[in-house]
Amino acid sequence: MLVKIKCPACQTEGSMSLVEPSYEGPYKCWKCRELFTITLKNNKLTSCEPLSEEEFQKQQEIKALQDKFNRQFPGRQDTG
Ligand SMILES: [Zn+2]
Repeated sequence: MLVKIKCPACQTEGSMSLVEPSYEGPYKCWKCRELFTITLKNNKLTSCEPLSEEEFQKQQEIKALQDKFNRQFPGRQDTG
């Protein structure tokens, strides 16, 4: 699904495609290129924190690893 996100810095509306209605992770405004950590719940923006370039890279790596893991082990539960 496509979720609309309004940039807190320049008020430009961008969009993100999500697999789930909830998301917590990095967002980059396509216009002003500001970086944020955003939290979405039920396709609504609930939190938005400014992010440094360094942190953004880090978060993207973590996100990519999580996605990769989820693809390799769909529905896997951490049972120890
Ligand atoms: Zn912006």
